[in-house]
Amino acid sequence: MKTKVGVNGYGTIGKRVATAVNQQDDMEIVGVTKTRPSYEAQDAVKKGYPLYVPDDKLEAFRTAGIKVAGTIKDLYGKVDIIVDCTPGGFADKYKAEYAEAGIRAIWQGGEDHSLTGISFNAGANYKESWGAQFSRVVSCNTTGLLRALYPLDREYGIKNSYVTLIRRSADPYDSKSGPINAIEPVVKLPTHHGPDVQSVMPWVNIHTMAVKVPTTLMHVHTVSVELNSEPKTEDIIDLFRRTPRIKLVKSSSGIKSTAQIMEEAKEMGRTRNDMFEIVLWEDGIKAVGNTVYFYIAVHQESDVVPENIDCIRSMCKMEEDPAKSMAKTDAAMGI
Ligand code: NAD
Repeated sequence: MKTKVGVNGYGTIGKRVATAVNQQDDMEIVGVTKTRPSYEAQDAVKKGYPLYVPDDKLEAFRTAGIKVAGTIKDLYGKVDIIVDCTPGGFADKYKAEYAEAGIRAIWQGGEDHSLTGISFNAGANYKESWGAQFSRVVSCNTTGLLRALYPLDREYGIKNSYVTLIRRSADPYDSKSGPINAIEPVVKLPTHHGPDVQSVMPWVNIHTMAVKVPTTLMHVHTVSVELNSEPKTEDIIDLFRRTPRIKLVKSSSGIKSTAQIMEEAKEMGRTRNDMFEIVLWEDGIKAVGNTVYFYIAVHQESDVVPENIDCIRSMCKMEEDPAKSMAKTDAAMGI
């Protein structure tokens, strides 16, 4: 029997999680939610997802001629697990509702670790969410950092790491956010990204700063890591090549920026031109003594999507072996 999954909040992350769930052979979407009768609500219905809405919005959807399957609370009765992809501000209310309905739920990185007490990254701590009622898939940036730092720590031991996050200012659909012609530093230092990495790797030393820049395509991180040993540059490249969900590209082959990465993503034939892997420039990886330098490009709209699938498998006790779950997810998603 397939695990029944509902997506609460069919937006940037929610719609991608819905697609990815239905690509798997061991789980299925039984409903998604929208709060307004928008074009995205119409898209969801066209894709065949049963649509659930707040009870006080039923009339608005009817008036807009959008077919509704029931209220959000009706959806709780049909699912084994909810993937909550709502924006910030609703977590406490929904947590109480999920608890009352006795269902499992996954939140996203916009929520604090304290909401669930467990945060998830498939490569780093799959088993911590095993059988859990509530968990949280960390943010796109934290997912990117964990994918690179966890194997470095396992292989060589991390003494210290220093990261600057160059963050996209808005998602491509978003015509309201900015800046559109400025660079905005995050002045609350160190930024929250380090502690967020520590929600999965509590023992790791990490220091983070961040600036927001006028782009919508991807984030880029500049990373320097001091290790407990002195591997060669080739050893680090080989380690990253063997690590799932890391894609190596070469600046010398013309992929000089996030623009060419996302152009390449369009050629890969995936839904929504997504780049589920984090992308590292192979010719931008350098080991000097015990310090390794590299850059990470993160497609903020999609790198967390396969992690949500593995988190479902761990929480619903569907596959004990993290590597097997990741391989299954990746094969189904064309990663
Ligand atoms: P979004 O704004 O694109 O989508 C949110 C969806 O939730 C929308 O469909 C909206 O209609 C719906 N919604 C709003 N209020 C609701 C309510 N009360 N009940 C149910 N649904 C409601 O947001 P997003 O970018 O998909 O972000 C969702 C979560 O994922 C956040 O925690 C965010 O931090 C995290 N996240 C976002 C990104 C990103 O770059 N977009 C990356 C990783 C993680």
